[in-house]
Amino acid sequence: MADVLVVAEVAQGRLRKTTLSAITFARQLASRIGGGFSVLVLGKGVSGPAQEAAAFGAKAVHVVDAPALEHYIASTWAAVVAEAATRVGADFVAATSSTFARDLLPRVAARMNAGMVSEVTAIVGDAPPLRFKRPMWAGNVIATVEVKTPKAVFSVRGAEFDAAAAAGGASPVQALAIPVTADPKVRYAGFAATISERPDLTEASVIVSGGRGLRDKQGFEGVLNPLADALHAAIGATRAVVDAGIAPNDLQIGQTGKVVAPNLYIGVALSGAIQHLAGMKNSKVIVAINKDPEAPIFSVADYGLVADAFKAVPELVEEIRKVRGA
Ligand SMILES: Cc1cc2nc3c(=O)[nH]c(=O)nc-3n(C[C@H](O)[C@H](O)[C@H](O)COP(=O)(O)OP(=O)(O)OC[C@H]3O[C@@H](n4cnc5c(N)ncnc54)[C@H](O)[C@@H]3O)c2cc1C
Repeated sequence: MADVLVVAEVAQGRLRKTTLSAITFARQLASRIGGGFSVLVLGKGVSGPAQEAAAFGAKAVHVVDAPALEHYIASTWAAVVAEAATRVGADFVAATSSTFARDLLPRVAARMNAGMVSEVTAIVGDAPPLRFKRPMWAGNVIATVEVKTPKAVFSVRGAEFDAAAAAGGASPVQALAIPVTADPKVRYAGFAATISERPDLTEASVIVSGGRGLRDKQGFEGVLNPLADALHAAIGATRAVVDAGIAPNDLQIGQTGKVVAPNLYIGVALSGAIQHLAGMKNSKVIVAINKDPEAPIFSVADYGLVADAFKAVPELVEEIRKVRGA
């Protein structure tokens, strides 16, 4: 019987919430193939996240805990994931599409001699042969694809699969004795994490995002920071802003940036180019503030305000503070 293996993502000793979307996908896939799913947690000192992963109804949580896995190195990790899939009898491997999964999964697929579907947004059909929907051309085309190999690897769009709810009870947590050999050709040199008090873009329920209309760093931060503070929001940016050095690269939303789907997305002084929409159009509620009534962002917005952001946003912040009594 085929099974699905979900590769968990761990950060700062915690299971990343994004993993829960892959678990939802795995539940759906397992029910259609008549199998089950399990979760794989890799790293050094990962018993905490493994226990967290046990709450979602997996047949088991498999753990590979080794000093050589302290830092993520794609080639080392891919070998372990592929071996783990073989050991636990999983023909299918899945993870939520993130910088980590995009780097790791194609290597896993190559090692498993498996076909791969990237950025899955839906499963089509109730029984094999299953097909999968995925966006192409910045989301302008939705392709339906079928995997012809007996084994398959999937990266799934977090925005399209709701975070799995706890299933009640706890899955058994089992150590997998896989020898981990560090890739001799790669040496871990360091990881420069961006430290921010704000929520992570891909996990935030509110995002305020700024575009070129905010002119410069002073305008971007001066307008967006108070709004983000008032709403406890993450800050995002368009590529134009990132390319101009106004905001760091990790804030970029869009086709070549992050894909987000918060409950509330407020786009400020950004036009809504298709490459930007590709990263945020699945947000539950979209608010646009732009001085040009013809700006394309208004075509996807639930609420639009035609106004100068430098005047409208401070007024909005003032009103939010009044409502919140701050
Ligand atoms: C291959 C490729 C990949 C790309 N990937 C991405 C991506 O991942 N993410 C992304 O964002 N872009 C991406 N782009 C770039 C994209 O095409 C646009 O150029 C970019 O999104 C535009 O950014 P913007 O909306 O900030 O700027 P603009 O398009 O210049 O829009 C600025 C907006 O601000 C408004 N404005 C100006 N002043 C004010 C004011 N005072 N108050 C209110 N409104 C004001 C204007 O009316 C205008 O609508 C990509 C492009 C290519 C070719």
